[in-house]
Amino acid sequence: MRIIMLGPPGAGKGTQAVKLAERLKVPHISTGDILRRNVAKKTKLGQHAQKYMAAGKLVPDDVVIEMTAKRLKEPDAKRGFILDGFPRNLAQATALDGLAEIDAVVNLFLDPEDLVKRSTGRWVCPNCDAVYHVLTNPPKRRGVCDKCGSAIIQREDDKEEVVRTRIRTYDDQTAPLVAHYKGKGLLRDVYASGHIAEVQHRILEVLRL
Ligand code: ADP
Ligand code: ZN
Repeated sequence: MRIIMLGPPGAGKGTQAVKLAERLKVPHISTGDILRRNVAKKTKLGQHAQKYMAAGKLVPDDVVIEMTAKRLKEPDAKRGFILDGFPRNLAQATALDGLAEIDAVVNLFLDPEDLVKRSTGRWVCPNCDAVYHVLTNPPKRRGVCDKCGSAIIQREDDKEEVVRTRIRTYDDQTAPLVAHYKGKGLLRDVYASGHIAEVQHRILEVLRL
């Protein structure tokens, strides 16, 4: 299956995308993870993207579209994929229409204040991209990744001010995609409040899995 995860920052796209990808045995393709890896390695792409990401703005389309097109052409994506963080505006959605046929778009929604709480409590593993939350999904040992043992960190762009800008960026540029995919009959709305397993269950239900 080729699935897009849609939803504002803090809705839990990444967490749910990883679980769904494991279950369906397809790759989890997160443009945010790919960009952050490039920033960490100080590649040309990373150096270009960094200032936009730190400000909560979108990285320019040409860069992100090329990066995603390349990733979708890799052999593991032939069996399907869970796309997380792309497309983020109509130009990207139009580009994606030419790259792959999508089976469903999971649209996670949540109350605005819950979004801020979720993002500001988030910790991530810089080594394996695992995601934790101080309240709802803490690691077994404080500050240490359950999966690989690395020290976990807070993302630069999870500071409250930047989170609010990211939510605004979502409202302005990404929210119109809800209508776009609804028009294509692909949209599956899922309420993203509650435990991780509960939300996963709702996702499997709307996808009839
Ligand atoms: P979120 O938790 O907000 O969904 P991501 O990890 O998906 O965050 O993305 C973090 C940042 O990376 C975004 O705020 C943006 O600057 C950049 N980014 C990720 N995907 C895209 C994209 N498709 N287009 C433009 N910028 C992107
Ligand atoms: Zn890890």
